[in-house]
Amino acid sequence: MSHPNPVPATTAENRMQHVISPYANPEANAINGPLVIVRGEGVHVYDEHGTKYLEGVAALWYATLGFSESRLVNAAKRQMDKLPCYHAFGNKIADVCLELTERLVAITPEGLNRVFYASSGSEANDTAMKLVRYYNNALDRPVKKKFIAREMAYHGTSLATAGLTGVPRNHWGFDLPSSDVLRTECPNYWRNGLPGETEEAYADRLVASLEALIATEGADNIAAFIAEPLMGVGGVLVPPKTYFAKVQAVLKKNDILFLVDEVITGFGRLGYMFGSEALDLEPDMMTLAKGFTSGYQPLSALVMRDEIADVIGRQSAAFGVLGHGYTYSAHPVPCAVALETLKIYKEMDIAATVRARAETFWAALAPLGDNPIVGQVRGMGLIAGIELVADKESKKSFAPELGAARTVERCCLAEGLIVRAVGETIAIAPPLVITDAEIRDMAARFARGLRAAQALLGR
Ligand code: PLP
Repeated sequence: MSHPNPVPATTAENRMQHVISPYANPEANAINGPLVIVRGEGVHVYDEHGTKYLEGVAALWYATLGFSESRLVNAAKRQMDKLPCYHAFGNKIADVCLELTERLVAITPEGLNRVFYASSGSEANDTAMKLVRYYNNALDRPVKKKFIAREMAYHGTSLATAGLTGVPRNHWGFDLPSSDVLRTECPNYWRNGLPGETEEAYADRLVASLEALIATEGADNIAAFIAEPLMGVGGVLVPPKTYFAKVQAVLKKNDILFLVDEVITGFGRLGYMFGSEALDLEPDMMTLAKGFTSGYQPLSALVMRDEIADVIGRQSAAFGVLGHGYTYSAHPVPCAVALETLKIYKEMDIAATVRARAETFWAALAPLGDNPIVGQVRGMGLIAGIELVADKESKKSFAPELGAARTVERCCLAEGLIVRAVGETIAIAPPLVITDAEIRDMAARFARGLRAAQALLGR
């Protein structure tokens, strides 16, 4: 008898039919077919046909140490041999998780010493949402529950965190966002600053609007404000000068917690260990993932102030349990890989390394600004956003149906470079171990891909 669901395993397209692919892009699939990656080496990956690509976005902004760091592989192997799995429920814990936690709290901002582990950025932010709720219930503030998140923010795709996410495509068809999320503006001075308005004045305008939102909703109803230090998926947006200092003052005045999503910016990406350090942020809670293990294993963390953890702890004592946790929270294998990753970051002084590399990076990318379809080249450390425009003068974007950013993405692929279209912006965020020569090679490939796209777009 034949199998009821035969899999015609002849081509990658056929095999892909059975995978529900996140962010599947039917148009790209129709043109290129799925890109099947089989191997990685340094900052490069290879597809099933042996073609080599420079991974210009470190996979999903996470392969900080590249694709062949044997120390991470060996750390996982050692842990697999010793204790391949265990959990953190009911006061049990794997020893390696304790060692990791000591190392982690030694580098997190002062006062943030308590850690909850999960496996993804979404789970960490979801946990933050739940624990903020729990915290306010413990403090007898039953209506202080809403979150403020920004337009174009990206905080995950679980049912709750997709509501925090402000990118419309993450809401389509999902009945999102839900009503416990309040939305405030996305800081984009280049696009939304008024003629003659300084960056500081623009920040004042955004903060005034945030204050107005808080006044309308009532601070008593608002629990927390969540922000990425630099917005990644939303278009690689660097906050305007003075913005966060002013936002933080408003949050403090209104007793609203500040949750900083460091899922992309954590562990050196901006040239500092955390984005909070780079931008002078004082988080009450911080979420980490991606670079925590260089992406080699799924691991995330929610790190919080001791006072908040103490309130949560007292509430749990009253209930007799903290009724929250994931099977894979504090799993020993990702913890062992994270521990080794943190050791490597320390040995290489990751922040200083990124700052040094960033000089070459920005020198190599700056000339792209002269291309007629580039509106702005922006970013910080080793993350850049190159925003495309149909008209440089007016900053008018290409019509969405032209798929300009996807065209650049595709043309770069043909040049052996993987970049990512985030809206009308191309994101570049290579592994942090990229060399100066590889940066120059990446920029040259990008320039060629951009010129090919420019021709296809008739500019
Ligand atoms: N927060 C930020 C800033 C992110 O960029 C991402 C993913 O890219 C997430 C949260 C969600 O992480 P995950 O996809 O691991 O759930």
